[in-house]
Amino acid sequence: MARIGILTCSNATQELGCSSVVCLADLRKRKGAFAAYPADEKLTLVGIINCPGCPTLTGPDKLLSRIRGITEFKVDVIHLAFCVKALCPFAEKYIKALGEAFPTIRIVLGTHEEKETPDEYRERIKRLFSQSKKTMVDVILQKDDG
Ligand code: SF4
Repeated sequence: MARIGILTCSNATQELGCSSVVCLADLRKRKGAFAAYPADEKLTLVGIINCPGCPTLTGPDKLLSRIRGITEFKVDVIHLAFCVKALCPFAEKYIKALGEAFPTIRIVLGTHEEKETPDEYRERIKRLFSQSKKTMVDVILQKDDG
């Protein structure tokens, strides 16, 4: 049995509302990165946690503290979700830091089947973030059409 934890990028989950539905579907269907597990090995999802946000000068420490939300529960493998793979400039650093901090846990980059390249995904996310959106500033300035 493989006990699996998933780390997502908070840009995708917290900012943009991804519920990890595609990662979880492909875990169930053993597609994408989950296809690498032996067919007879049971896969148990222990937990999903999102990255605490970009690390500023603290480096991986912020993530190492937060990831305890899954590492304390006997995970064998942590998958860094496709959103981390495609969006995160710190992914390689995180993989190294997690490997050093948790030598018994295997770190895998990727989750669901990749139907587009990381570059294509990044472009689409960039377009989402570039959309004009009303904020509290518009409420304060009464430009919110309310
Ligand atoms: S550090 Fe990486 S994974 Fe975390 S929010 Fe920023 S881009 Fe996403």
